Amino acid sequence: MSGVRASSRDERRGVIGIDLGATKTAAGLVSAEGTVMAFGSWPTRAGDGPGGLLAQLAAVVDDMVAEARALALEVVGVGLATPGIVDAASGVIRYATPALPGWTGLRLSASLAASVALPVVVHNDGQATAQGEWVVGAAAGCTDALVVTVGTGVGGGIIAGGRLLLGHEGSAGRIGHLSVDADGRWCWCGARGCVEQYVSGTAIARDAQTVLAGGVETTLRQLARPVVAADVVAAARAGDGVARSLLVTAGSYLGAALTSLVNVLSPEVVVIAGGLAEAGTLLIEPAEAVLRERLPAVLSSGLAIRLSTLGSRAAVAGAALLAWEQLAG
Ligand SMILES: [Zn+2]
Repeated sequence: MSGVRASSRDERRGVIGIDLGATKTAAGLVSAEGTVMAFGSWPTRAGDGPGGLLAQLAAVVDDMVAEARALALEVVGVGLATPGIVDAASGVIRYATPALPGWTGLRLSASLAASVALPVVVHNDGQATAQGEWVVGAAAGCTDALVVTVGTGVGGGIIAGGRLLLGHEGSAGRIGHLSVDADGRWCWCGARGCVEQYVSGTAIARDAQTVLAGGVETTLRQLARPVVAADVVAAARAGDGVARSLLVTAGSYLGAALTSLVNVLSPEVVVIAGGLAEAGTLLIEPAEAVLRERLPAVLSSGLAIRLSTLGSRAAVAGAALLAWEQLAG
């Protein structure tokens, strides 16, 4: 287990953890042990550009500082999780997803620190989720873990040999861009067959719309607006066969990606996190079936597959825990 061993002086101190998502931003006050003591979420105004987003993040920090004051806690810094490739040492966004226009090249850590007068530590959101699940979530106590986030996109993080793997350019864990079909669907990253094009919320919604356009009989047709992945999950749960089969297909692609990852990394646990983890067994069972069928028994027998226990708080806790580590170092 990593993280900072809390000293008595840490008892009245907290780090603000922020999970900046393309549609939603969540934040909390986090203790040195990873306990989330206050929590809130707000819609992300990604369309406002980097200046507007920085102002929004500064306002979130102000809100959390006020929460800390009410709890008589001293705030020692900010841990921020963001999509994209992050240089954690300098806090610079090396490459951002199209969902956050203008984010690439931003000196995020320095810019936010200047406006909130607190040290700011930035990590990739999948990596932060992995850190949170590893220290205080579904992978607690493990030395080698793979955490996959399935939401609007697909991401994740790798715990290897008892530490979070960042990689040479800070990009380790870009699981969404693992190819499951060499000649498959084009991805926005420039590659083909990326698993994100089959199992993300975006992909599931798009596949549902394709099925509807084909005239198939399904309760999804009763919606008065374009179908989203949550609709597919709800319909599947209510017994809609078409919705169930969409999730089986998506889950099977996830299973193919997990098979490759487990072969490469040999984790003791795979944790499925992110918004679509709420689909639970509807998505995980087909993924696990493919994984168990394709893995050698010697690897499969010792492998646990679990759902996130931290839910939407995983990246908040993880970003704050990584900041605790860096600020105490
Ligand atoms: Zn890709």
